Amino acid sequence: MTRRIDSRRDERSNPADQRAVRRHNLSLVLRHIAERGPRSRSTVATETGLNKATVSSLVAELIERGLLSAAGTEYPGAVGRPAQSVRLRSDGALGLGLEVNVDYLSVCAKDLAGRVRHRRAIAFDNRASTPERSFVRLLRLARDALRDVAAQGLVPVGTIVAVPGLVDYASGRLLYAPNLGWTEVPVAELVEDRLGLAGVPVRVENEANLGALAELWEGAGRAYRDFIHVSGEVGVGAGIVLGGRLFRGARGLGGEFGHITIYPEGPICGCGGRGHLEAMAGQDALMRAAGVETSVAGERDASADLAKRAREGDRSVQVALRDAGRLLGIGLSSLANLFDPQAIILGGRFATLAPMMLEEIRAEMGERVIAARWSDCRMLVSELGGEAAVRGAASMAMERVLDDPTTVHVAGRAS
Ligand SMILES: [Zn+2]
Repeated sequence: MTRRIDSRRDERSNPADQRAVRRHNLSLVLRHIAERGPRSRSTVATETGLNKATVSSLVAELIERGLLSAAGTEYPGAVGRPAQSVRLRSDGALGLGLEVNVDYLSVCAKDLAGRVRHRRAIAFDNRASTPERSFVRLLRLARDALRDVAAQGLVPVGTIVAVPGLVDYASGRLLYAPNLGWTEVPVAELVEDRLGLAGVPVRVENEANLGALAELWEGAGRAYRDFIHVSGEVGVGAGIVLGGRLFRGARGLGGEFGHITIYPEGPICGCGGRGHLEAMAGQDALMRAAGVETSVAGERDASADLAKRAREGDRSVQVALRDAGRLLGIGLSSLANLFDPQAIILGGRFATLAPMMLEEIRAEMGERVIAARWSDCRMLVSELGGEAAVRGAASMAMERVLDDPTTVHVAGRAS
């Protein structure tokens, strides 16, 4: 919960402090209305503890910035006077999430209330592509999305690009994506230059981190403060949420769960290492073990295909899934021993495959987690599945506006 800073206490402080207090309170009021729904200025004042005149002034600025609009009348009951409500503008700010993964591209656009206003994903074999070609196709999806949301009266105010690899946050570069063989791709620059959205910041983020944030903001992770979201695609990544915040490591390069060593003599990983988890339990490894052609991955959802075969009684697929479940359980045991999470959420394509792997995962964890007897760590299956990262990307763009509403001025229709 955000702390209230009462502007009255800060009357004598310097102008920079006053601006910081104002920014903080604008965020407080905007978040309050985003979380609780339409309400009058005096209700906001009572609920936040800010004084009524301050709230009126803050609301006026949020309306001016195109973030709030009038929303009819609130009747407080027999004693109070009816008052004009305000709500989030449904034709205001928009967050654009884009994702490049190993075998698909996707886009998701969300408004300030967190509603999805546009979404699309296409199969695309980025391994057989260059960054240049992949981004040309991704930006075509983005332009279609922008046309669609413009027709709904929405204005993009931030873009986050999800990528399957290590990211340099300051420069917006993808440093290394082992499964794509891409290094040093200037993602933010590529998107900024070609999308033609002047003044709309573009940031780049690791897809597993965004997946975990999506779980925290709108998925199964909402009920927990300490959890691990494992996203299984061709690569395997983890987003670690501790105390309600994403754990990134010193340089933001943490969470590379797929590259922990499970078996020192194991197969070579996409990163060049040996016996890493994703080389043994990622989507490609699974398909090889099941005797299924990996090339179908570029054409359709390979995991749905595997799940279907397993359900239909294909023995080799069932065995491959159980083996992968065992390996995943071994990896997850180490995470559970280190972090003592309240929950582990299986996401990405593991969400589709989880029913066939859960028994083995649980058995391994029961044996290998030292605190297993005393732990009530829940094993959950993500409802967001493969959409988590791109939804998290769109939400992250909106979080920035909720944190600091002074970063935007949405020039849309008057309302
Ligand atoms: Zn590796």
